[in-house]
Amino acid sequence: MPQNTDTPIAVPIRFLGSGSSGNSIAIDAPDGVILVDAGFSAKETLRRLGELDIEPSRVQAIVVTHEHGDHVRGVRVLAKRLSVPVYSSSGTRRAAALDRECANSHVLIPAEATSIAGADVIAFRTSHDTVDPIGVRVEMPWGVITVVTDTGEITDEAREAMRDSSVLAVECNHDIEMLNNGPYPWFLKQRILSSRGHLSNVDAASAIAEACHDSLTAIYALHLSEANNVPRHVRASVDLALERIEHPCRVRVVGPSGCKD
Ligand SMILES: [Zn+2]
Ligand SMILES: [Zn+2]
Repeated sequence: MPQNTDTPIAVPIRFLGSGSSGNSIAIDAPDGVILVDAGFSAKETLRRLGELDIEPSRVQAIVVTHEHGDHVRGVRVLAKRLSVPVYSSSGTRRAAALDRECANSHVLIPAEATSIAGADVIAFRTSHDTVDPIGVRVEMPWGVITVVTDTGEITDEAREAMRDSSVLAVECNHDIEMLNNGPYPWFLKQRILSSRGHLSNVDAASAIAEACHDSLTAIYALHLSEANNVPRHVRASVDLALERIEHPCRVRVVGPSGCKD
């Protein structure tokens, strides 16, 4: 475990956007910025980096969680334009053709630490209808940021990765009742609800509560479904779980344009 000796930067994690229209997270590591996913076009990613006052030259690497378009759309062009390496699981590397189309692509082996931009980055397996999806745990001198998105269930590896994190960014995709009563066709509802689909508010809330400890300082809800969720349902589930264990943190919702609160 890293020691909590160095002072964290003011906002160590920022969001370019989250949801089915595109996902990208900027993590401030000691030696630069790590982008987790590049689900917007390269041009749009650069525009959003500008909005967050992140100089593109500070981006040191892109980590890709899985090959769905809302996570990889801009990765090839962006990696080339910024001349940065791309990291993913070996299955995602093949499925997203990163091995053929990115000049500088690397494999993250689950549970093994890889040094990126002065941080230790550790991939862990998630459960999603793609070849080899991962979540990401980023260990820095001041603490740990863990990102878990696009997973039908919290895997044992995800539970372990979340445990002593200082910052958690976790998918809160749907409210189960809204999904069941909503407009999606039956087969799509089954896909989302399956263990290889997307995470519900209640499942996210119980995993977050289980991972809570005194040094957890921020919790972000990712990848809300526009048809099957609203921020107040996320807050009701997650904040209620936090209140029950008397933890002072409250969830912040990340939308398609980032985190506004
Ligand atoms: Zn997604
Ligand atoms: Zn996905």
